[in-house]
Amino acid sequence: MFLILFGAPGVGKGTQAERLSSEFKIPQISTGEMLREANAKKTKLGLEAKKLMDMGELVSDKIILGIVEERITQDDCNHGLILDGFPRTIPQAEGLAIIANKHNLPPFKCIEITLPDDVIVQRLLLRGRADDSEETIRNRLFVYKNQTAPVKQYFNIDSHFYSVNGNKSIDEVYNEIKKILQ
Ligand code: AMP
Repeated sequence: MFLILFGAPGVGKGTQAERLSSEFKIPQISTGEMLREANAKKTKLGLEAKKLMDMGELVSDKIILGIVEERITQDDCNHGLILDGFPRTIPQAEGLAIIANKHNLPPFKCIEITLPDDVIVQRLLLRGRADDSEETIRNRLFVYKNQTAPVKQYFNIDSHFYSVNGNKSIDEVYNEIKKILQ
């Protein structure tokens, strides 16, 4: 199963990816998490990314595509993987297609989780991560609408795009996703 979980920050991609990852025994690949780990280790990449993350801006496509290619070509991804928080721009989606082609990966299914903006803001304020201040949240939503939402059109070209309503319990959303995957 090669899956992309798509949607704005705070819709529950990470939570759902984690459950899918443990049930289907395939890795969850979260670019945000990889960047936070790099930052915790104080690598050059991590320290550079931190400034952008704190502002709710995106890290460069080139850097993101580099870390994704390195990660998804590891052996534990042979039987599938779940992308969480990537691709976030059209160039990233194009880059993923090139990487997938180069490494002979099967077609990806893309599942979007939707949620109204006001619910997103409430959820993220409650989550309280370092980049969850109200100002940063608003900017992340702005960046999502401008740079990430257009990626939907890119996936809609083929028939592997699905959408689920994220304004339900974690279990209900999970069951919806599993129905799509069957
Ligand atoms: P996330 O945990 O997915 O919400 O990501 C947290 C932050 O990491 C984002 O606000 C971006 O600054 C950065 N980031 C994560 N994934 C990407 C990506 N695919 N492209 C660019 N920046 C990213």
